[in-house]
Amino acid sequence: MLSLIVTKPHNTTTVGKLIMENNMTTLKDIQTTMQAAIHDRTVFEQAKSYAFEYMDTVNTRPVFPEPEAIDALKAFTENLPEKPCNGEKLLKMLHNYGSPATVAQTGGRYFGFVNGSILPPALAAKWLADTWDQNPALYVISPVTSHLEMLCEKWLVQLFGLPECTVAGFVSGTSTATLCGLAAGRDALLQGLGWNIHQNGLFGAPELQVIVGEQAHATVFKALSFLGLGRDRVVRVPVDKQGCMRPDSLPQLNSSSLLILQAGNVNSGGFDPLLPLCTAAREAGAWVHVDGAFGLWAACSKETDHLTNGIELADSWSVDAHKTLNAPYDNGIILCKNRAALVSSLQASGSYISYSDKRDGMLYTPEMSRRARGMELWATLMTLGREGIDALISGLCHHARKCAELLTAHDFRITNRIDFNQILVACDRPELTTATLQHLQQSGTCWCGGSDWLGEPVIRVSVCSWATTETDIELTVNAFVAARTRATIEAQ
Ligand SMILES: *Cc1c(COP(=O)(O)O)cnc(C)c1O
Repeated sequence: MLSLIVTKPHNTTTVGKLIMENNMTTLKDIQTTMQAAIHDRTVFEQAKSYAFEYMDTVNTRPVFPEPEAIDALKAFTENLPEKPCNGEKLLKMLHNYGSPATVAQTGGRYFGFVNGSILPPALAAKWLADTWDQNPALYVISPVTSHLEMLCEKWLVQLFGLPECTVAGFVSGTSTATLCGLAAGRDALLQGLGWNIHQNGLFGAPELQVIVGEQAHATVFKALSFLGLGRDRVVRVPVDKQGCMRPDSLPQLNSSSLLILQAGNVNSGGFDPLLPLCTAAREAGAWVHVDGAFGLWAACSKETDHLTNGIELADSWSVDAHKTLNAPYDNGIILCKNRAALVSSLQASGSYISYSDKRDGMLYTPEMSRRARGMELWATLMTLGREGIDALISGLCHHARKCAELLTAHDFRITNRIDFNQILVACDRPELTTATLQHLQQSGTCWCGGSDWLGEPVIRVSVCSWATTETDIELTVNAFVAARTRATIEAQ
């Protein structure tokens, strides 16, 4: 390129341009562009207007993106460009090609997994939190996030009715929360048996008896594997038709037992009977962890709090705010009654780490640096208040029952008992269920996932969004009927 410049010395504009293009990007260039972005606000105004357009259209766009929209993702170049990209250009790309390929999860007719929507004021608080870019690792890094986490901890303990000494760590989701709870349980049990795992690791340690329900969530097994407790050597307790542990099948527990219970089966929404199970564990000196990813919130509504009876007798609990509570991603919480156990399992030390007499968030999480998700949780809890939380949870359950009622009236079979927000739906024949699900997913009207339940394929409906209305339920039921009609015609 240099020789090219030399051969055309008479054309100064070309020379200037070529030199520009040839120059390596410098920090100074980046600083100039970034300062301009802050100064003229164009990218922020642009993002805001795209966001508003999204909000305005989310209920009319296909719930699952059209194949053409997914195909158009090719517009994103495969290779990382050498040169910096203009902010307006990259936002435009996201709007033009990214947005049509989103799943319209914040609308009222997304029923996949147990995903939840997002409460607008919590989203707005997240925008602000993102602007502040705080790191809640230590009090000295961010007093405001330390303070808000402290409040969230207090409020959650009250909402769930847990022992006052319970502490909370704000993690990415229940996967991580369960890992933390089981780590604390493992370490505390071993300490009780005279073994210091922090010094000696697991080699030569006394054996622990790990007990799960036959229907424990996949993330429990993942955590057990991470923690050196093994996926396969666990005792699996038989479950009833709702996937809930049978207390009469609980093995003899002792002070080496780690009992893992579930508040909210991911398919049926069923709850393990916490009261008898936790009582037995307490008497034996076992550690109980409750995976309450979406179901723990049942404790916060008068209509459903009977489901979590005995919850306060456990030792640790994992729960998501991004599911039932409709907080923004990612927002999981580990709650633990034994602060010393949780902290000793997760604490790090180093010459540059200065703990304070205030809340230092990283004492309760595996991460050191992380997002200030406590702010969003605080905003979510403030947005709803105690009454709003109760209304949200009982409303989701009400819509689930309504949906099941209408589906039954249209000759669909409901194969679970609707304890909470989950509905499992089947047609006359397994093949028809599977084909109906496919048509339903392509309909664009709503989106549900599939699963297997009691030996047959089912369509899984998880009512988990504040935005779902009675009309959304009716539209969804109509879409079920239309999908089954198509599937029936196709089969003939
Ligand atoms: C969703 C879920 C998990 C995993 O939670 P993440 O937040 O996705 O990590 C664990 N257990 C149950 C019962 C769940 O529903």
